[in-house]
Amino acid sequence: MRLIIMGPPGAGKGTQAAHIATRFGIPAISTGEIFRSNIKRGTELGKRVESIMVAGGYVPDELTNEIVEDRLAQADCEPGFLLDGYPRTTGQVEFLDELLARDGHRVGAVIELTVDEEATVQRLLDRAAVQGRADDNEETIRERMAIYHTETAPLTAIYADHGVLVRVDGMGDIDEVTDRIAAVLTDIDD
Ligand code: AMP
Repeated sequence: MRLIIMGPPGAGKGTQAAHIATRFGIPAISTGEIFRSNIKRGTELGKRVESIMVAGGYVPDELTNEIVEDRLAQADCEPGFLLDGYPRTTGQVEFLDELLARDGHRVGAVIELTVDEEATVQRLLDRAAVQGRADDNEETIRERMAIYHTETAPLTAIYADHGVLVRVDGMGDIDEVTDRIAAVLTDIDD
């Protein structure tokens, strides 16, 4: 089962990625998490990506693709994987397709979590207030939402074309949403 999860900020993407991965016995792989862990450990890769990430930019495709290729070659990815935060560009979509095709595989499903954006902005604002995060104001939250749409729209269009895009209502209880996602994945065999 080779899956991708996408969703706007605050949609609970990371939480659902972890739940779905556990339920299907596959690893959840977040490229952002891999980069952050390298920065923390002070690796060569960490040093190369730190300034890019701080500025909110994208790590170049060449580097990101290499990281993903290495990670997907590990034994735990044999039964499949769930990618979170990758692909983010059309170049990455093409690279992933080619990488999987080498072994006769393909992306089985791309889950797009949909949310009520007004409610989500409010929830993020409440959380920011509790955590005292001054950077999470309404303007930056709305900006992140807008960026999400401009960035992912071309990618979801490609996957819709391939017939693998599934939209799942991300509103409600965490377990309820996990059940909804699991339900649409039952007849996926790639
Ligand atoms: P995330 O945790 O997915 O929000 O990613 C945090 C940061 O890591 C992003 O803002 C980018 O700087 C970098 N990053 C993560 N995934 C990718 C990707 N697929 N392509 C390029 N940069 C990425």
